[in-house]
Amino acid sequence: MSNEQPATGDGQRATGNGRRPTAPLPGLGAPGYTPTVPVESRKELALAVFHALAGHEEVVFGADAVSGLKAIVAIHSTALGPALGGTRFYPYESEDQALHDVLRLSAAMSLKAAAAGLDLGGGKSVIIGDPRKLKSERLWRSYGRVIDSLGGRYITAEDVGTDTGDMELIRRETRWVVGVPVEEGGSGDPSPATARGLVAAMRAVGKFMHGSEEVGGKKVAVLGVGKVGSDLVRRLVEAGASVAIADVYPPAIEKVTERFNVEVVGCDEIYDLECDIFSPCSLGGALNADTIPRLRCQAVVGSANNQLAEPEDADRIAERDILFAPDFVVNAGGLINVSEELGDYTVDKAAAHIDKIYDNTLRVLEASRERGVCPNAAAVTLAEERISEIGSLRLFRRGGDDRN
Ligand code: NAD
Repeated sequence: MSNEQPATGDGQRATGNGRRPTAPLPGLGAPGYTPTVPVESRKELALAVFHALAGHEEVVFGADAVSGLKAIVAIHSTALGPALGGTRFYPYESEDQALHDVLRLSAAMSLKAAAAGLDLGGGKSVIIGDPRKLKSERLWRSYGRVIDSLGGRYITAEDVGTDTGDMELIRRETRWVVGVPVEEGGSGDPSPATARGLVAAMRAVGKFMHGSEEVGGKKVAVLGVGKVGSDLVRRLVEAGASVAIADVYPPAIEKVTERFNVEVVGCDEIYDLECDIFSPCSLGGALNADTIPRLRCQAVVGSANNQLAEPEDADRIAERDILFAPDFVVNAGGLINVSEELGDYTVDKAAAHIDKIYDNTLRVLEASRERGVCPNAAAVTLAEERISEIGSLRLFRRGGDDRN
């Protein structure tokens, strides 16, 4: 079978030129072929790769030297359907950091899709580089071809550093992309849908805690008023809530204060603000061992992915008697919206599906009470149960060709 030569002796013996002995890879033993990686090192590398990818179905690396594309697509699970998740374009410091991020994000997408009741799996992709410098038609179209090569096992959309215009360019090479511009027949920017879902979740939290889903009269502190946060502020103000905001980027603050009467506080100060709901809508990790003891809210409901810096933070919040509504349950509005694009998209149908986040959140909170665990643990368990129960439906074969 293999023409790989057995490792000699202790594997450490140096050859005449001082290097460790090497051997051809299986099937690559053609005369003149000289592998540059020693056998033992290659084995270690392969084992390290499979260890790193534990739990993921497939990871694909795509590169295009002409445009500078360096992309990693991670498919965590297709048990419930094709893996859907956005493309993050970010100047990662290393390929290792990019791989770590994409694996973590794609696993979270499996939970998010399952918790939202979608027939979708979890996946995500990252492009390494500065989006402000590297974006070009060539890059997007070569990336589109990488996506297309997966034959629909992975469907992409926007994420940090990418927008609807980028999705349109990707679509010129593959149909496995959603979140394309409205004028091109797509559903557009998913951020307002995410904000809509957050309000639905806040109503559910109010119902669970106080028996009232009324948002009017509540005080909400929003950290990060970008695409999601600013639309959340609009919805809250229109519903009669009183809102405080903070953001590191002054123009983002100005955009909101030009339109709405809100309180502006510092990005650090906002953690100490007395309020009903704290809403982290900036980056992940806002809830950690330093910030949790300072919180003076009753509940946390925000859009940021991975708000808990580490798993123990879920218990830290619970010990403070603060309700943490799991981020991957309450921020699914954007995912639900773009997933509607896979069928016949209508704004009303998508809105009705996004509003189901109310029921999904309530179900998680009730399960948390019944099972005596914190809401995050309950949400993870419910999502994993659904992946296991519905994913295994494939065992019931249809007649004939069952591959579709
Ligand atoms: P965005 O980039 O438009 O907005 C983020 C805002 O946070 C910006 O205004 C930025 O200045 C601010 N910010 C960044 N770091 C900060 C800090 N340390 N302190 C205070 N403010 C800070 O992004 P977005 O699309 O509004 O998404 C917000 C969060 O929600 C992200 O974590 C994103 O992953 C998550 N999310 C977004 C969507 C969506 O539909 N856009 C869906 C699900 C989850």
